[in-house]
Amino acid sequence: MNSIWRLFIPGKHKPSPRIRPSYVRIEASTVCQLDCPLCPTAKGDVGRLIGQGFLKFSHFKKFIDKNPSIRGIELSNWGELFLNNELLDIIRYAHQKNVQLTAYNGANLNTVSPKILEALVKYKFHSITCSIDGTTQETYQIYRRRGDLNRVISNIKRINEHKKFYRSEFPRLTWQLIAFGHNEHQIEDAERMAADLGMTFQVKLASDDQFSPIKNKELIRIKSGLGACSREEYAQTYKASYLSDRVCSQLWNHPQINYDGKMLGCCNNYWGDYGNVFEEGVATCLNNERIDYAREMLTGKKDPRADIPCAQCFVYHDRLRENAWLDPEQISPEPWAKAGEQERISQPKDKLA
Ligand code: SF4
Repeated sequence: MNSIWRLFIPGKHKPSPRIRPSYVRIEASTVCQLDCPLCPTAKGDVGRLIGQGFLKFSHFKKFIDKNPSIRGIELSNWGELFLNNELLDIIRYAHQKNVQLTAYNGANLNTVSPKILEALVKYKFHSITCSIDGTTQETYQIYRRRGDLNRVISNIKRINEHKKFYRSEFPRLTWQLIAFGHNEHQIEDAERMAADLGMTFQVKLASDDQFSPIKNKELIRIKSGLGACSREEYAQTYKASYLSDRVCSQLWNHPQINYDGKMLGCCNNYWGDYGNVFEEGVATCLNNERIDYAREMLTGKKDPRADIPCAQCFVYHDRLRENAWLDPEQISPEPWAKAGEQERISQPKDKLA
């Protein structure tokens, strides 16, 4: 089943496609305990523009109850989801309602209570991307300032013990290493450690090529799997910003909602919102004039407009410069969403509660 349902409303005017995704992204926390040098959360930009706070269980429950077509929710984005004190209720309720939870955007895993470590397995939290940018404390803390690598590894080991006990493959864990000049020599060690911990491994390009620049460019071109060692090189090679199509597509297929209900559209946007889902409902926020206009900007049909958040985004400016527009016909659910749908359907056959 496609996660985008397009309903055409008959009327005098040209029918407008309505967006009703089955996967959304709701930020569990815009608060983070680390101080990563390139992160807009650590710099205070995220808090200043979209607020610092946590998703309330009461809002989450109401959202699930009112939107039975929602099948999956991504909880991570700007902050650390494990700092949310109501996360246990959120995880348990999602499992009860057969809604798949993920943290693909990433978690630092420095602060996770024993109850949550067990709940992640017991209630089949689907996947977590663990942000670990080094294999020694000395290297790790250069970017993950205030982080404690031993604690992160010990939390992963505890999750693995629960997975063994519950005989479950969930949550699937990915070790994500942001490549820098100061950690590139540890990539192969990190790959080995990830394999020992039963994790998949991926290398991500840093958001600013000037912070701790890559020295072994060929290594990163290979290890990133992109043939590019930096976002600048990626943009030159592909005439598009790194990850831009995937992120902009979220306005259609996996819209981002802030912890307090603000419809942000995509996970990159902290400049403005398209209404409040907890007050107006998800259908209204996904199908109003401003978000429709944003979609038309992204597909190159309309000129930039100052009240649309995309007008402030570097990704949109790259699109404008390169004349590189999204093709709505090419927008499809991400592979993990398709896979997750099948897994949820088969979930009742699984042994564990
Ligand atoms: S242009 Fe920027 S703000 Fe707009 S959808 Fe794309 S990434 Fe998000």
